[in-house]
Amino acid sequence: MPEFFRTSIEFLKGVGPQKAVLLNKELEIFTFGDFIQYYPFRYEDRTKFYSVKEVQNLFFDEYSSKRQTPHVQIVGEIKHLETVGSKYKKRLVAYFGDGTGEIELIWFQGIQYVTKKLQSGVQYVVFGKPNFYNRSINIAHPELEIYTPAHDKASYLQPIYSTTEKLKNKFIDSKNMGKWMATLLQTARTHVNESLPDKLLQQFALVGKFEALFNIHFPQSPANLQKAQFRLKFEEFFYIQLRLLMMKVARVDKFKGQIFKEAGLLTDFYNHHLPFELTDAQKRVIKEIYADMKSGKQMNRLMQGDVGSGKTIVAFICMLLVIGSGAQAALMAPTEILAEQHYRNLKFFTDKLSLNIALLTGSTKKKDRRELHAKLEAGTLNILVGTHALLEEVVKFQNLGLAVIDEQHRFGVAQRAKLWAKNKGHYPHVLVMTATPIPRTLAMTLYGDLDVSTIDELPKGRKPIKTVHRFDSHRLKVFGFIREQVKTGRQIYIVYPLIEESEKMDLKNLEDGYESMRRAFPEYNLSLLHGRMKSEDKEYEMQRFLNKETQIMIATTVIEVGVDVPNASVMIIENAERFGLSQLHQLRGRVGRGAEQSYCILMTGFKLSKEAKIRIDTMVRTNNGFDISETDLKLRGPGDLMGTQQSGIMDLLIADLAKDNKILEVARSAAIEILDDDPQLEKNEHAKVKAQINKQRKHSVNWSRIS
Ligand code: ADP
Ligand code: MG
Repeated sequence: MPEFFRTSIEFLKGVGPQKAVLLNKELEIFTFGDFIQYYPFRYEDRTKFYSVKEVQNLFFDEYSSKRQTPHVQIVGEIKHLETVGSKYKKRLVAYFGDGTGEIELIWFQGIQYVTKKLQSGVQYVVFGKPNFYNRSINIAHPELEIYTPAHDKASYLQPIYSTTEKLKNKFIDSKNMGKWMATLLQTARTHVNESLPDKLLQQFALVGKFEALFNIHFPQSPANLQKAQFRLKFEEFFYIQLRLLMMKVARVDKFKGQIFKEAGLLTDFYNHHLPFELTDAQKRVIKEIYADMKSGKQMNRLMQGDVGSGKTIVAFICMLLVIGSGAQAALMAPTEILAEQHYRNLKFFTDKLSLNIALLTGSTKKKDRRELHAKLEAGTLNILVGTHALLEEVVKFQNLGLAVIDEQHRFGVAQRAKLWAKNKGHYPHVLVMTATPIPRTLAMTLYGDLDVSTIDELPKGRKPIKTVHRFDSHRLKVFGFIREQVKTGRQIYIVYPLIEESEKMDLKNLEDGYESMRRAFPEYNLSLLHGRMKSEDKEYEMQRFLNKETQIMIATTVIEVGVDVPNASVMIIENAERFGLSQLHQLRGRVGRGAEQSYCILMTGFKLSKEAKIRIDTMVRTNNGFDISETDLKLRGPGDLMGTQQSGIMDLLIADLAKDNKILEVARSAAIEILDDDPQLEKNEHAKVKAQINKQRKHSVNWSRIS
């Protein structure tokens, strides 16, 4: 930004040094540039005048009374004034009417002052939020001005800026900020440079930068406001996308990848050992990965697919490509249980192909470790499966060709970067698998520099899981259902919440649950599984359940991720209101893996918060992970959804990842078009874009390692 916008905020007329300090501290506003980008968080509509009758209808009309009532503006007269209440709880009531009806204006404070000021027989403009209380409609502490013809012409939306208590105490309120903003905009006009190229302005009918800034603060009409918002959101997304895409280009050019195209082993497996037909989506994703691996560039690909969509086999088939060319593959999982399970599943196949596979976790014995390290370095071990124990420096490969990371949201960025460093000559190809589908908008922002493959199809013959909500009081019926299912040979999961702060209590909950299930089902064998158990014990319990020696598995969320027991057909979630949406979806994904009809039962008490109700209803309504993640995004916002670790990326000034997905798509395709035409932004017409990117680069975190 030019010099003007770096001017300290204290030099803005009306602000001065003392208020400037407060603006710095409370709102991080230091310069004119910061201030002009301090956008209103809402607007009050002063274009519309309500009649009293219309205001009454807001409450009496069945439909609209369910919505939040808006702020309203009414012209009328004070008919009558009275002070009511006791000495200590006095209030002033003005009966205000306009010929269509009457409402009350109420003051609890400043009663004397207001009483003196109010005149009868004068037309006032009243502004405020109406309430319905004690059978009458009132507005408490309304804004009040004597009506003048200018009010009819003042057709604009008034900006409301968010402030803090500290600021308000020093008269830095929304109104004053509006005044300063008006002053700033007057002088800023000649200093604002257009930051988007003409071509884009024309192509997307965007308003100019100054017009957008002016109208975002002082919109002359709702249409103008909308245009301003569109332009500023577009710009914000456009530059983020442009940066991500340029980073990707830079990385692809920089990092060479090993070429793997020897498909003999893969074909052998495909023709002779694959136990089922792959879905079309699985085939497509394999082709996408294959294309990357023979391209000579390092692959960085995210494979997303709903729970049960069959990501593991895709990863395995890709490993065969690498192994067929003499290199090694690694598969890293977030928990020991999951690593063990992957190991078991893959070993079934590797045995048939006479390949060597090993498991490395925190519980691997020292002696076994040493052996394993040696084989790994000699290159006789083809696949290593493990937890983050795999990242330790002593673990050295002869030639790591492909690193697969399962359930990426559990791994930190730094941990993943370590994996990259495992190979000397080349970075290994990296395939990240996630079963937490993320909304497209988030994927494009978080992984805008990664290639994304999506398995959007479940294997044939799967019956959609039936999900129901049951109150605790219906427990006996649920027990009856369990019995029915076990009789037909199925197995059951019962999951209890485990939240760290109250771990002890939760453990007790779990154990109580276990006891009561034992009493209820003395004829069955039960398994108990939780995070505090030793890993041998966990493994033992998993095995018993897998071998159908136990019928009911009582567990905490340790089973949330990836556990695969096709014969289990009922998932009962206790205190379902305490789980987040993506967790519920993950848990439900533990059933519905075989050909039988599966069920998910969400147990709760009667009392549910509004959000918990939405979560439960969403689960009952849909099985689609993308649908669920969209709802989750709306409920929690993008920062929460991705964990604090990545929330910084979500610091958007004006655009909203949960709502503005259309604008994001348009902006991203615009960025792609420009880079296709001019990858280094060397053309004259892109000079503005290049300047903007260079300026942002100076301020930004290094995103290039986020993958
Ligand atoms: P996820 O994508 O959740 O990791 P998995 O890879 O664990 O799913 O696969 C879920 C189950 O579906 C496994 O038992 C797997 O063997 C099976 N499976 C995978 N692909 C297919 C397919 N094309 N047809 C039938 N079953 C499949
Ligand atoms: Mg999985």
